[in-house]
Amino acid sequence: MKGGFTRRDMLGRLGLGGTAVGMGMLAGRGFADEATDGDPERAGFAKNIKSVPPTTQDGPSAFIEGGKVMQPARELPVFHTADVVVVGGGAAGFSAAVAAARTGAKVALVERYGSLGGLFTDGMVLIVIGTGTRENGEFKLVTRGLCEEFLKRLEKMGDGAIVCRDPKVYQPTVDPEAAKVLMDDMVQEAKIDMFFHTWGVDVIQSGNAVQGVVFESKEGRKAILAKVVVDATGDGDIYQMAGAGYQQISHAIGSVYRLGNYDRIDRSKMPKDSKLNMGSLEPLKSTRWFNNLGPKGNGLDVRDLSRVEMMHRKSAWNYVQKLRKTPGCEEVFLLQTASQLGVRATRLLDGAARIDKKGAVSGKTFEDVVAFSGDDSLKHPAFAIPYGALLPKTVDNVVAAGRCISCAPDLIDRARLIPVCMVTGHAAGVAAALAAKAGVRPRDVPAAEIQKTLREQGAYLG
Ligand SMILES: Cc1cc2nc3c(=O)[nH]c(=O)nc-3n(C[C@H](O)[C@H](O)[C@H](O)COP(=O)(O)OP(=O)(O)OC[C@H]3O[C@@H](n4cnc5c(N)ncnc54)[C@H](O)[C@@H]3O)c2cc1C
Repeated sequence: MKGGFTRRDMLGRLGLGGTAVGMGMLAGRGFADEATDGDPERAGFAKNIKSVPPTTQDGPSAFIEGGKVMQPARELPVFHTADVVVVGGGAAGFSAAVAAARTGAKVALVERYGSLGGLFTDGMVLIVIGTGTRENGEFKLVTRGLCEEFLKRLEKMGDGAIVCRDPKVYQPTVDPEAAKVLMDDMVQEAKIDMFFHTWGVDVIQSGNAVQGVVFESKEGRKAILAKVVVDATGDGDIYQMAGAGYQQISHAIGSVYRLGNYDRIDRSKMPKDSKLNMGSLEPLKSTRWFNNLGPKGNGLDVRDLSRVEMMHRKSAWNYVQKLRKTPGCEEVFLLQTASQLGVRATRLLDGAARIDKKGAVSGKTFEDVVAFSGDDSLKHPAFAIPYGALLPKTVDNVVAAGRCISCAPDLIDRARLIPVCMVTGHAAGVAAALAAKAGVRPRDVPAAEIQKTLREQGAYLG
């Protein structure tokens, strides 16, 4: 017993009524009388094991015919129906889903892993750069609206959630765990149907019009029907499956890792001429993050991805071991390697419009502008992103967001930054919701209507 509560009191408050699960939870919270030393039998888990009906039904298997592997046709269960389904829960997909829900759509968000944020959180790319530009010598934030709201709410989560190296330039570094928790909160507040561990593998299509997505999961292969699909997979998986045009590029594939016990380094013992890279600032004093820039690779080729994953992991391990052998640094350790490999860019949509470096540097804007990107170097003007850059030329009912929008390779290193992905996600979500509500194709939604809603939601459009 602790703090005057008996176990029974506490179970009652938790509404758990003394189940084995409840006992395990309390044991995990360190109640002395419930200590199990990590032994599941003593925690009573075994008593709670029951037989349940199978989750998946058997279907006809693939077979070999004439030396070719064939897959028989089969009916797919309809798992869910939504106005808007967003595939991919990275910075762009998170923003698209929240924006679509706030615009009044019934939204489903499909993510292949178990948390939101994509490269931003699970890829541990922790610094949000490209939020603004310099105007008359002053920093001006342009990635406003949902992106700004998210970062401000993160600031309120406490000391460990966000830090800015230079207060005059808004380029915050975030704690990835705080960011994931906040994304979960915002998705739940917006009443989005969140489906983790769900991998979008095909589209449902009638001619050029997409009508939903097929996914794979532990439940097997199932369908989600939707009026509009937002492709926020980062790699354009959805528009590729729907037959849209795109350009595929290779890029350096990086990987981030984090160092623990940074605050236990004794600098007085370190060699004076040490040129060791000590990583980048994080909100938590005890951690630092490092970016392995990486070799060029094809981010869609599983052999390349597997090779680069192992190469980066080994290199992170070796570097930290080297650090640990440095006088004063004995207590640092490899805290974490990113669970998402740093694929910078793969497919770039062939959109109704395309942004490129020449246009971006000129500072021109568009009648159908739906987002603005800042400039991480603060040397160039902010650049405008037209709605057409989110729309496939030929395929209907798909809107792209994030690092796979219609962009020339010469601009992708600016267009793929986290806040830019968030503002294109915001725009894609609003457009998708308006199209679904009006029962029209996304390309038929007047840009002025999208702009009006975006402005109402705090976005900057120049
Ligand atoms: C090494 C590296 C360093 C970087 N440095 C910076 C930096 O310092 N500052 C900065 O602002 N930006 C930086 N960037 C860029 C930035 O991190 C990314 O471009 C941005 O986060 C991409 O967001 P996104 O939502 O478009 O895509 P992603 O983050 O890739 O998100 C896509 C999501 O979709 C999911 N998904 C993919 N396919 C499917 C599918 N078929 N079905 C279901 N789910 C799917 C993925 O699991 C993922 O969660 C860096 C990128 C890399 C790789």
